[in-house]
Amino acid sequence: MDGHDQRNHQAGDGLSCPDCCLELQDYLDGTLEKKRSLSVFLHLRECESCRVDHDALRAVFAGLEALPALEAPADFDDKVLASVPYAAYQAMASLRRERVPVFLEEQFLPAWLRARATRLGGLLVTAAVAAVFIAGAGSGWLLAPGAAGLAPELLCRLQSAGRRLVGLSRAEG
Ligand SMILES: [Zn+2]
Repeated sequence: MDGHDQRNHQAGDGLSCPDCCLELQDYLDGTLEKKRSLSVFLHLRECESCRVDHDALRAVFAGLEALPALEAPADFDDKVLASVPYAAYQAMASLRRERVPVFLEEQFLPAWLRARATRLGGLLVTAAVAAVFIAGAGSGWLLAPGAAGLAPELLCRLQSAGRRLVGLSRAEG
């Protein structure tokens, strides 16, 4: 019981010393519910040990209240902002600006389509088809693979152009 008076353990409307100690701060603040506050009051009247605690706590509160109110220094805001890694945040401005609609994100196109081999292979197919046409041996059915060969490279380039356009408009706005 921490040296608290055992005899008065249940003094004052059944409030125990530990319970009383728990309530002391609220009791002093005056925020305790009325009936509970009365219990503490009655306990304090009969329990010297808790009364000592109460008086000590009250002295602390009084001391705190007596402290002069401190105004924050004029440069307080600046100091707080300076301590925040704001420079790093600013340094990432370009990254934030480069955020684009989802269909312009690289990941929007499947990886196989973005793969260098696919794009290069497609271009080779298109080049081969073009070569056949230039040689005068081209026929209509070759147009489809010729166009398809161009598609991966074209899609990637269109997407990257779109990204650049969005980036430009963001930079201006
Ligand atoms: Zn007590």
